[in-house]
Amino acid sequence: MLQLNQITTLPNALLTVQSVRELYKILPQPTLLHLEGQRKNPLFVSVLLHGNEDTGFFAIQKILQKYQHKTLPRSLSIFFGNIEAAKIGMRGLDGQPDYNRVWPGGFQYVETDEARLMTKVTKAIAARRPFASIDIHNNTGRNPHYGCINTLDNRFLQLTSLFSRTVVFFTTPKGVQSIAMAELCPSVTVECGQPHLPYGVEHAAEFVDAVLHLSKIPDHPVHEQDIDIYHTVARIKIPDNITFSFSDNKVDIKLDPAIENYNFSELPIGAIFGSTAKNAEFDVLDDGDQNRTDDFFQNEQGKIKLAKPLMPAMITLDEQIIRQDCLCYLMERMDLAG
Ligand SMILES: [Zn+2]
Repeated sequence: MLQLNQITTLPNALLTVQSVRELYKILPQPTLLHLEGQRKNPLFVSVLLHGNEDTGFFAIQKILQKYQHKTLPRSLSIFFGNIEAAKIGMRGLDGQPDYNRVWPGGFQYVETDEARLMTKVTKAIAARRPFASIDIHNNTGRNPHYGCINTLDNRFLQLTSLFSRTVVFFTTPKGVQSIAMAELCPSVTVECGQPHLPYGVEHAAEFVDAVLHLSKIPDHPVHEQDIDIYHTVARIKIPDNITFSFSDNKVDIKLDPAIENYNFSELPIGAIFGSTAKNAEFDVLDDGDQNRTDDFFQNEQGKIKLAKPLMPAMITLDEQIIRQDCLCYLMERMDLAG
């Protein structure tokens, strides 16, 4: 049974722990830590919803170190999520629902311990009338840093543009933290590149600190030139009964490792994702979870080619992550003025 641990004093060991694999020794359960600051409505930050994504934890550690002997400019509530998965360096445990698909507003996994846990967290945060929410993640593949928002409200755009000019707008999958929090306050998911990198930690910590110092989030439009915004139109999954690999040729779909360089580049029609000797196909799901493979890809003499110009994001070469989550998202540029 998953318990939510709520605390209001900082365990000092959090300031010095060097690996998220050791975190369970300090916080044996998923934990919500509430710290008082000068302005009362808290900034809510969640870290380690995916146990192998440690940048958020180390960014928060930097913030806690900075304010160890002084008052925070604003109250800060921090949720430390999948500590069990962090212990073994995994995104999630086998058979466990994804900690970022079980938040209120999701349709899957509603009757699970994990969903009940996130409902408790959401209620506890709602009761404190949050100022803003930041969920910190890493990508498995090489990607630039970018923010994700789920509503086009100016305050959300202002918040995310403090982190990066690259912004992704999405409304599916449901059950993610940032969609649940968007009901309460301006909310953003920040993707800080691959885990363990000092620059990601630095950048995420600077962003959290900047938001802690804001007295309000402006609600005027972000200047068009200051933002590149894309929306997801589909995601590519590989059906469970199809084998795939980046290295082994004896599989249904042989993926080309060079596709990692496709992340955040606008691709033309005909861009090749891989090859198949068996007419195997991706499962390309649109925002309504409908299979739209034929609209997005064509098989030309065994080459799997893009059927329309699109920009992929979050392509990873990690075959286990592709099985657990997806190969990538497909995006199109949005025009905020239009
Ligand atoms: Zn993540």
